Amino acid sequence: MLKIDGITRRFGQVTALDGVSLEIGQGEFFALLGPSGCGKTTLLRIIAGFETPDSGTVTLDGDDLLALPPNRRPISLMFQSYALFPHMTVAKNVAYGLEREKLPREEIRRRVGEVLETVGLSAHGDRRPAQLSGGQRQRVALARSIVKRPRLLLLDEPLSALDKKVRADMQLELKRLQNEVGITFVVVTHDQEEAMSLADRIAVFDSGSVRQVDEPVALYERPRTPFVAGFVGANNTFEGKARAAGLDAGDLGELAGTPLDGLEEGAGALLCVRPEKITLAEIPEETEDGAEGLEGAVLDVSFYGGVSHLSVDVPGHARPVLVAVQGASAVRPGAKVRLTWDADDAVVIPVPS
Ligand code: ATP
Repeated sequence: MLKIDGITRRFGQVTALDGVSLEIGQGEFFALLGPSGCGKTTLLRIIAGFETPDSGTVTLDGDDLLALPPNRRPISLMFQSYALFPHMTVAKNVAYGLEREKLPREEIRRRVGEVLETVGLSAHGDRRPAQLSGGQRQRVALARSIVKRPRLLLLDEPLSALDKKVRADMQLELKRLQNEVGITFVVVTHDQEEAMSLADRIAVFDSGSVRQVDEPVALYERPRTPFVAGFVGANNTFEGKARAAGLDAGDLGELAGTPLDGLEEGAGALLCVRPEKITLAEIPEETEDGAEGLEGAVLDVSFYGGVSHLSVDVPGHARPVLVAVQGASAVRPGAKVRLTWDADDAVVIPVPS
């Protein structure tokens, strides 16, 4: 439905976007995820019409978007700063875009009423933005973006101004709303948890290129490049050579894992395993060497309520291995432990040479 094809944009020496192609489906909630400076905002601005690419095309249902000025594109934008008019009531703020289009007053009233109902603010139409909480102001901004019934809503770091609790509520709310209104949403964020919780699919950007496009779970469990593995979630990685059943990690021995399709035996590779996929067992004093898995010593244990994180020093591995366990952990710093995982829960990916 939204088709981005070979978009390149340079600013002097900087290549902000380097031949980016993406296809986003009708009604999809799609996230552009990446660190600061990777080009995701530039792509959003090109879709909206505030920026022109050096090459490439963008079409919406087959129509050339780049040929249209921003105000003629069937697109709304929602920014992180709510940009509400402080002197206008909530209802006026929402009606503003429709009034500019000179729609009949009765139709404006009806549509504003409907959309305030959708975002749960029917009772607040007469208030001013200053009388609302951060989450409520966010809803007004959203109401204002959808009242014009765009085919596409672009959201630029929509929740970054909210505190953690409100943000979690708004994530649920945004997802519910997107389902309800059926508009295609494209959100830009540098926050991988936010992208995961909101989006049906995510494109991970790095240095102006898309590294992987996938559903959140696939991205999390099956990263395809070292960048994605490192950027999406806390990940443990081990370097070595690919083997049919995992990785030859040199001094650390053979580690269990599933190589990505097409990865040749002996090729330079990384094994990635998520903290919550690792089983940690204390080693009784009398155990002999030679059992499978990695041996190490617990460096530190942090309790977060629902989960505990343990960091484990594995001799021969440069970084501590992170293990997540449910609830509180009885294991204490200094304990000798063995770390194991199922081959299916670890992925072996190529390292570009
Ligand atoms: P952030 O989250 O920090 O906004 P981003 O991933 O959205 O980062 P962009 O804002 O798209 O990244 O910027 C990509 C690159 O292009 C950066 O190196 C940035 O400095 C550069 N850039 C963006 N806009 C301009 C501009 N108008 N003039 C010059 N350089 C620019």
